[in-house]
Amino acid sequence: MKKEKKCSDCGTKMIKVSSKTPDGISYNYFKCSKCGEEILNMSQLHEVAEKYRNMKTYHAKISKWGLSLGLRIPKELVKKYKFKANKEVTIIPEKEGLKIIT
Ligand SMILES: [Zn+2]
Repeated sequence: MKKEKKCSDCGTKMIKVSSKTPDGISYNYFKCSKCGEEILNMSQLHEVAEKYRNMKTYHAKISKWGLSLGLRIPKELVKKYKFKANKEVTIIPEKEGLKIIT
């Protein structure tokens, strides 16, 4: 571990506190007890990003549709990306999967 964090504004020792995002994800950060300056270090930032990534994972089943395969897109994603039946989309093959552009 590195030595203790000092506030970049006033030089006061910062304390580690934890909080929750509006989405209910808990995270840790440093807060200056004097001026109230708040910072996240890289690992704390990484932790929050990881939690968000896991939260935004959806599962869908691929089903046979004639000679092709169809993917049922969850309602929530249909709404979010404004997918519509019979609307054409672009599929981009990427290293870890497919990217669908509306
Ligand atoms: Zn401060």
